[in-house]
Amino acid sequence: MTRSCPEPPPAGPELAAADVAIIGAGVVGTAIARTLARYALDIVLVDAAPDVGTGTSKANTAILHTGFDAAPGSLESRLLSRGSVLLRSYAAAAGIPVERTGALLVAWTPEQLAALPGIEAKARANGYQAIRPVRADELYSSEPALGPGAVGALEIPDESIICPWTTPLAFATEAVAAGVRLLLSAQVNGVCSADGGHELVTARGLVRARWVVNAAGLGSDAIDAMFGGGGFTITPRRGELIVFDKLARPLLRSVLLPVPTARTKGVLVAPTVYGNLLLGPTAQDVPDRADVATTEAGLRSLLAAGRRILPGLAAEEVTATYAGLRAATEHADYQVYADGGRRYACAGGIRSTGLSASLGIAEHVAGLLGEAGLPLPPRPGYPAAPPAMPYIGEAGPRPYQDAGLIAADPAYGEIVCHCERVSRGEIRDALASPVPPADPGGLARRTRAGNGRCQGFYCAAAVSRLLAGGPGPAAGVSAETPGAAEVRPR
Ligand SMILES: Cc1cc2nc3c(=O)[nH]c(=O)nc-3n(C[C@H](O)[C@H](O)[C@H](O)COP(=O)(O)OP(=O)(O)OC[C@H]3O[C@@H](n4cnc5c(N)ncnc54)[C@H](O)[C@@H]3O)c2cc1C
Repeated sequence: MTRSCPEPPPAGPELAAADVAIIGAGVVGTAIARTLARYALDIVLVDAAPDVGTGTSKANTAILHTGFDAAPGSLESRLLSRGSVLLRSYAAAAGIPVERTGALLVAWTPEQLAALPGIEAKARANGYQAIRPVRADELYSSEPALGPGAVGALEIPDESIICPWTTPLAFATEAVAAGVRLLLSAQVNGVCSADGGHELVTARGLVRARWVVNAAGLGSDAIDAMFGGGGFTITPRRGELIVFDKLARPLLRSVLLPVPTARTKGVLVAPTVYGNLLLGPTAQDVPDRADVATTEAGLRSLLAAGRRILPGLAAEEVTATYAGLRAATEHADYQVYADGGRRYACAGGIRSTGLSASLGIAEHVAGLLGEAGLPLPPRPGYPAAPPAMPYIGEAGPRPYQDAGLIAADPAYGEIVCHCERVSRGEIRDALASPVPPADPGGLARRTRAGNGRCQGFYCAAAVSRLLAGGPGPAAGVSAETPGAAEVRPR
């Protein structure tokens, strides 16, 4: 760190020098921000996007993995087991929707059946003991809609489904409440390091920080190279998924997993915490780090797999399709390290399990930073209680169902998104929250508005009006209005 840096342009207040700059506000970066916020540090969380959680963190399969099938002895196994436990308890405290559905890992061929004891042994080596073999007859009695031909399974009772959107939002909300500065729309394009620390060249000016943490997901190799690392290269592995309508939900009780291959966990069918069914993901290496398009071939292959696993899916309506990009590298494990000499830590290449492992990764990174020389004095009053996040799951009560709440504040009875039963009160609250949405997609991740079977066809105009500070839905439409679901907002 001996290069001299150019004279910076005048810095705005948000660009004042920080102790730690975290690059990337996905689930990993926000978890790190929230964990480091327990210490008396001045922290800035920087992201290229105008909102938190807009990268891979918003488009995954939303399983809270136990880590039963990770490679024993790997860093991923350790941080996943730990992170899963931490996130389970954090989610309960913060109001992040989680359902412990359990999973059944289903064998369809004699070869797959023969692989089950090895997977069970792996789970036990990973410290997960609750796994157990399930005979085919037992499997069909717990999942009667399962397609014919399954020959046995393993039950993993602690696999759960989680809201992938509320998770980074909760972490960011907690971080911001502790004083972490959130610098969005600030892509990091370069770095200049000198003896006193680093200057990040961002789309919003220079950000000075003594230490930098790289949690840039698909961009983590590029950031690592800027800091003199360069030990890994990301090759995005695209996963396409299909969301089925809520009417399909009764087809399934638990997550149905395939026997994994060395390359991918394979295509699963899972319930979502919003009451839908999810089928996917595919696994295809793509050259473009922004290529989140779904493809005809990908969706066809999913539908074929879905029909085999759960034939009833063929008759169900598709609500949406999407794709996410795994930050796969040439290494099998996460790329996590800290270097005190460079005052730099990397949490990159977090490929397939980063949602579940996020709090484990964050705890590990904080430990590495402390060992590397970052002073970690406790912040007075911390650790604080997690924030109370708006509950957007299907399993618990929602505002439209709460007569007392509606009586106290009628905005919770004014339905804007009829498919997902989202009220004007919830949208108003999201817009006034400490980490507000930047666009309709951000509002959907906070409230579910526009995510239902009409995909915003009926509510997009009202939602846009509310986002722009306008009055919202057509006057007089409320949860109590007979036929409210048929009224189109103008
Ligand atoms: C199809 C699929 C299914 C998955 N299923 C699961 C699952 O069921 N359970 C599970 O636990 N995990 C799952 N994962 C993995 C999980 O989604 C990821 O591991 C996790 O989201 C990675 O989070 P992240 O914060 O590292 O990356 P991201 O969420 O991508 O965040 C990185 C952030 O860095 C920002 N950034 C990048 N470059 C720059 C730059 N130069 N300057 C400023 N900002 C920058 C980006 O804008 C982005 O916001 C799945 C992934 C995929 C693709």
